[in-house]
Order: sequence, then C-alpha cells, then structure tokens
Amino acid sequence: MQHRALFLDRDGTINIERGFISNPDDVQLISGAAEGLFLAGTHGFKLFVISNQSGVARGLMTEDDVVQVNQRLTELLAREGVALDGIEYCPHYPSLSGPCDCRKPQRGMIDRVLRRHDINLARSFVIGDRALDRELALNIGAKAIMVMTGYGVLEVNALNPDRKPDYVARDLLSAVQWILEHE
Ligand SMILES: [Mg+2]
Ligand SMILES: [Zn+2]
Repeated sequence: MQHRALFLDRDGTINIERGFISNPDDVQLISGAAEGLFLAGTHGFKLFVISNQSGVARGLMTEDDVVQVNQRLTELLAREGVALDGIEYCPHYPSLSGPCDCRKPQRGMIDRVLRRHDINLARSFVIGDRALDRELALNIGAKAIMVMTGYGVLEVNALNPDRKPDYVARDLLSAVQWILEHE
C-alpha cells in the first residue's frame, strides 16, 4: 500500500535554527513541532527528516556529530510520542566536496527513502523554512509548505512570485493542521 509522507526539513522547521549544530545540547524543539508530527502520524503520514548538513564538508562538524544530533532529536520527539520513519542528511558542499546528487533541492535523499518505503509523492508534502525546500517539492512532484520559523520570514519574502509554495504556515503545527483540513 502506498503511504503519504511528510518530508521535513530539520533546522528551523522542527528544531530551533542555530546555525551549524554540532552539539546535541543545542537541539531544542520549536513549540508545537512535536504536537504537529504526532497529529500527522496518527493520520497515517510517514515522517522523514531530509536535512542538508554541509557543516561536515565545511569542516565544522563530523558525520558522527550529525548522527548524535539526530539521535537527540529522535529522543526529544519520542518523549512526545513521535516516531520518525527515517532521517536522511547530505554532508556535502559542492564547492568543497564536489558535486553530489543529494544536497537539497536535488532529490537524492528522497530517492534513498523511496528504496525502502512505498510513497505516493503526489500526495506527500515537503515542509521547510527555505526556498530550497520548496524547490525540492517541485523536483519530486510533491506539495510544498513553507514555515515562518527559522529563516522562513526572510526566505518567503524573497521568493519568486511564480514559485510560491502551496501554503505558508506560521509553524510546523499549523502546517499539519492545514494539511489535515484540506484532505
Ligand atoms: Mg531549515
Ligand atoms: Zn550530498
């Protein structure tokens, strides 16, 4: 059976944007984020984190740091009853580590998810605070929601008018509420 999915940006969407996060102690959930993910999960959405972590290629953190930070995020969400179905990250930065096919807005991380899960992309959503999250949605044929947390205010105001997302939400919780109201 095909599932619907939320492809979620991490920093600025689920947890508070703090630049390159290499220390698990710097992971702090955005208010309502866990509640939103819980709600989506109970309505049958699979939940995947899709995150650019170029701090690795830039030499600001190791892949192990990324894994530790993701582990803390998983724990904080689990305390609120949320089970993620997967976390994908891209450690690359093209000008330093050469081209890759996984840095958003490219679809490589989504393709990794699709190898293990049967997902209906047209009925799925990319949710994030950056224009590149919106571009990822275009590249995979999913719907796009931008949140006004993180860099959202800056990025939404700078968007090309004909590349607007399907919806701009105050935060992740209101994004999920909008999705559930519009099914
Ligand atoms: Mg972000
Ligand atoms: Zn990559």
